[in-house]
Amino acid sequence: MRLLVKIVLILNSSFLILNYIEAQPLKQVQKFTHADTLRGTYGPSRDWWDVQRYDLDVQFNIVDSTISGNNVILIKSIKKGGLLQIDLQEPLILDVCITTFDDPRIEKRSNPWPIKAEVIKKEGNAYFLKIHPAFIDLKTNKPFYLNIYYHGKPTIARRPPWDGGLIWKKSKDGSPFVSVACQGLGASVWYPCKDHQSDEPDNGASITMTYPDTLTGVANGRLVKEEKSNGLKTTTWEVISPINNYNLVPYIGKYVHFSEVYKGEKGNLDMDYWVLEENLEKAKKQFADAAKMMKAFEYWFGPYPFYKDGYKLVEAPHLGMEHQSAVAYGNKFQNGYLGRDLSGTGWGMKWDFIIVHESGHEWFANNITSKDIADMWVHEGFTNYSETLFTDYWFGKKAGNEYCIGTRKGIQNDIPIIGPYNVNQEGSGDMYPKSGNMLHTIRQVINDDEKFRQILRGLNKDFGLQTVTTEQIEKYINKKKQN
Ligand SMILES: [Zn+2]
Repeated sequence: MRLLVKIVLILNSSFLILNYIEAQPLKQVQKFTHADTLRGTYGPSRDWWDVQRYDLDVQFNIVDSTISGNNVILIKSIKKGGLLQIDLQEPLILDVCITTFDDPRIEKRSNPWPIKAEVIKKEGNAYFLKIHPAFIDLKTNKPFYLNIYYHGKPTIARRPPWDGGLIWKKSKDGSPFVSVACQGLGASVWYPCKDHQSDEPDNGASITMTYPDTLTGVANGRLVKEEKSNGLKTTTWEVISPINNYNLVPYIGKYVHFSEVYKGEKGNLDMDYWVLEENLEKAKKQFADAAKMMKAFEYWFGPYPFYKDGYKLVEAPHLGMEHQSAVAYGNKFQNGYLGRDLSGTGWGMKWDFIIVHESGHEWFANNITSKDIADMWVHEGFTNYSETLFTDYWFGKKAGNEYCIGTRKGIQNDIPIIGPYNVNQEGSGDMYPKSGNMLHTIRQVINDDEKFRQILRGLNKDFGLQTVTTEQIEKYINKKKQN
């Protein structure tokens, strides 16, 4: 996500003119700070350990916009290392870090050996912890738990999903409507983690959220537990697949639910839809595009990557984001991009942009993730092109071509598409339409749609559930196009 379009409403005597400005202006020459390097580099305090799993447990205090909780991180040491870097963005406060061999979420402890991990230094949002050497056993390779307690009043997102933070809104009936958007800014805006895209929790993650019991909480993957007590509800959702930090998010609101079972390439896929009560009827009609999306993308990209975690569309208090297996939807139940066609050809009004684009990311962003956000074109270029492929699948090749060519008017040619590496900085907004059109060009050069399709499917198979670089993608396409 982080879409290219800012819509500016200009009130002109008797009617509204919709104007749009492509891309966010990025400075040509940017100075990066030590904090950018700590955030964006896979440095010596990050590269010796591998995240196996995150289990988050957070209370959302709607009255004062605060949160409090803990994140249990299962860690495997992969080489000899020094300090361990944990990211948590101010103004959140890190309380205490405890290491154990046993899962701290389970009462019974066979090995009662919790040891506090001291914060040796703090540099901005990065905490450097000293881990007791007993936990770093490269011979047995036994993983350990790092349980981090924290609390505070996290940054509020002012323009989600373009900036990041907590979103504390209300639905029409006055009920709280809470979520998070944090792509780019990073998940450490609301929970402590290794905030770098290249290390996903290999065994998945869970979110346990506590909130007023009149509401419903939804998150990634599947519902595993729900309890009520003293006016509060505690709900746990879990994904078993690796997941990007920024994709792991809660949704809390006055939700209702409907679902369907999709017969896909890998069998039955649960497709679940969570929308605010007030929008149920509209959603039942509009979300017909979800199954159409699934059909088109399984054809072009291969099986949906997360059958075990299911697919969900969840109404969000912002436009949309590719949250894995719980795609955020806020396109107001209409076709186009907030009712507009980004290609100017008419084809973009035939389908719901947010359902198609954000779900396209399940293959490119969630299944195949770039290691550095400088390579974000891998997410946005292929997903931009997924819009063309969706149009092609349902309306024919000519329609797809017209749509793709139509999006060229959004190309700025301002700065490079690939951003500077190791400082958590993405490149030009051209990563959307220009990368999409580059893929369209590659398709013409290959001049064999079946071969092109097999390359797209091959990328998802061979790089599935992995993090990659631009170079890997380029080499792969070059090799396969010659076969
Ligand atoms: Zn996107």
